[in-house]
Amino acid sequence: MKKINIRTSHPYDVVIERGAVRKCGELIAEITSSRKAVIVTDDTVGGLYGETVLTSLRNSGFECDIFTFPHGEQSKCLSNLGDIFDFLCKCNITRSDILIALGGGVVGDITGFAAASFLRGIDFVQIPTTLLAQVDSSVGGKTAVNIKGGKNLVGAFKQPSLVICDSDTLKTLPRETLAEGMGECIKYGMIRDEKLFELMESHTLDTLDEIMDEMVYACVDIKRSVVENDEFDKGERMLLNFGHTLGHALEAWHNYTDYAHGYGVAAGMCMITDILAPDLSDRLKKCCEAYELPTGTDIPMSELLPFCKIDKKNEAKNINYIVCREIGKGEIVKVPFDEFCRLMEGK
Ligand code: NAD
Ligand code: MG
Repeated sequence: MKKINIRTSHPYDVVIERGAVRKCGELIAEITSSRKAVIVTDDTVGGLYGETVLTSLRNSGFECDIFTFPHGEQSKCLSNLGDIFDFLCKCNITRSDILIALGGGVVGDITGFAAASFLRGIDFVQIPTTLLAQVDSSVGGKTAVNIKGGKNLVGAFKQPSLVICDSDTLKTLPRETLAEGMGECIKYGMIRDEKLFELMESHTLDTLDEIMDEMVYACVDIKRSVVENDEFDKGERMLLNFGHTLGHALEAWHNYTDYAHGYGVAAGMCMITDILAPDLSDRLKKCCEAYELPTGTDIPMSELLPFCKIDKKNEAKNINYIVCREIGKGEIVKVPFDEFCRLMEGK
């Protein structure tokens, strides 16, 4: 078992261990005095791992119920949140009980926000089952739901009490969903850790399982250090946005349908590296290709740039972009938006 302690305002452990899902009850019993829990999951993950988690919790003395909703981003919404609250009431969940998010980022984000707001806050545990959720969304305490006005616009900072990463669960992921998670992993290597990048570039999507635990550990550890320094996203945490400025623009151009976030991140990293650090471009693109990720787009930059403007993290006139001029060394650069446009259009 590997463990990473995250020292945020509420410190917690991330446990990385194959087979951990089967003994999650024991792990959770160590971090709470309550013996009452509700598992929140989606229908796909619930069908695969719901029984296992339920059994483990009951064997550890928990009274436990499970709330299942349809998989997909459209479930990360206020009406589903309302249904979760109603279910918690029906189960007589009190402030000392615990919620368990079993699934990908969608389940983690909505369950985290439910935990942040139900009875003004109760504890929750993350059991992330996608690569993206293990290396990114389950750690760091950002929780949210989507509203008509945009993605993740309503949420809270709420750190989990424990994160349990079992890489065996990643074996049932569709190939494309696994590949998508690699977009964020390659990002971590680029911004902070050349050794991690070398590990990834020496494998492919087909041999990824061989390095999975080592890679997940390294990625979570990078997220840990960034989040510990900037829990509430006011500075350094922006580094995690490498590839995301153009990546978000690509997602938005596609109307947030049929274009995965991880693909946007990969293409966005390659595009900005092509322009600002061309010497690194080949290596980065080869690595993305090995994990079946895009390395660019045919959409003209002039059509993408308007979508960069509306990124909610950017102040009105300026834009923060991330560049890696060496592998393992990300930098945050703040420039007026017009200058960013000129740079990206090669003017
Ligand atoms: P997801 O939760 O929708 O999962 C993707 C699909 O995989 C779903 O259909 C799910 O049912 C299925 N699935 C999950 N685990 C599986 C498994 N082990 N085997 C088979 N199928 C499985 O998507 P995601 O990519 O995990 O997360 C995306 C969400 O995460 C977005 O809403 C995004 O905004 C959010 N996010 C949040 C943060 C954060 O810091 N909170 C960071 C990044 C992304
Ligand atoms: Mg991302």
